Amino acid sequence: MRVTFLGTGTSYGIPMPGCDCPVCRSPDPRDQRYRTAILIEAGATTLLMDTPPDLRSQCLRHDIRKIDGVLMTHDHADHIFGFDDLRPYTNRMPEPMPVWASAGTAQTLRRIFHYLDRPPIPGTSLARIHLHTAERPFDFMGCRLTPLPAEHGRADMIGWKIERGGKSFVAIPDCKTIPPATLELCRNADLAVLDALRIRPHPTHMNLEESAATLSRIGAKRSLVIHLCHEVSHAEAENLLPAGISPAYDGLTVEL
Ligand SMILES: [Zn+2]
Ligand SMILES: [Zn+2]
Ligand SMILES: [Zn+2]
Repeated sequence: MRVTFLGTGTSYGIPMPGCDCPVCRSPDPRDQRYRTAILIEAGATTLLMDTPPDLRSQCLRHDIRKIDGVLMTHDHADHIFGFDDLRPYTNRMPEPMPVWASAGTAQTLRRIFHYLDRPPIPGTSLARIHLHTAERPFDFMGCRLTPLPAEHGRADMIGWKIERGGKSFVAIPDCKTIPPATLELCRNADLAVLDALRIRPHPTHMNLEESAATLSRIGAKRSLVIHLCHEVSHAEAENLLPAGISPAYDGLTVEL
């Protein structure tokens, strides 16, 4: 399984437009962060986690040729506003592209992208999506996919566990706390990825300290944090995190 971080930044992205702070002006390429999305290639299957507003640029940067299915985490703008950029991929598929989301996220997607269940006007194109509500583990193209409920403000938030060929990857891009049942599902993964917004606490996101403590409890073979904001540089985050846990960055690829 190969995991590629298409974006690792918080909702503003880094640099934030109009900001002159040291991180937004940093010469370190790892401090340039698109909004969070992850590509998972498992065998011949390509899965995308979330559709941020940067999705088109991310697809071009990584020359993504196909997306077999999409795993949505929640309905915040930084995770869904690139949804329509799935269209070039759905256009090439014989069947509608499957997208899985929590019930709350599916409801929001149907409201914002109201054409989802309607056929296009002849001669025009719409993203052809089959939107599923994910409540329990299921199999798709040789992968075992498990929704991971987590607490993230008012969002109906789920992370995802992806398993194939004896390898497992868990990611919860945005979260403040993780219920014990989800923690249990994450335990001993080959790669675990969690939200870590900044150094100061935040009401709906983990900070570096909370994320590191939770990742230690999960005990994955490799642990990474994402969704960083401009209050912390990549180098600072790397120094602050304990041994064995590091910040991901845009373009990082991990082979499991
Ligand atoms: Zn977010
Ligand atoms: Zn800044
Ligand atoms: Zn969020």
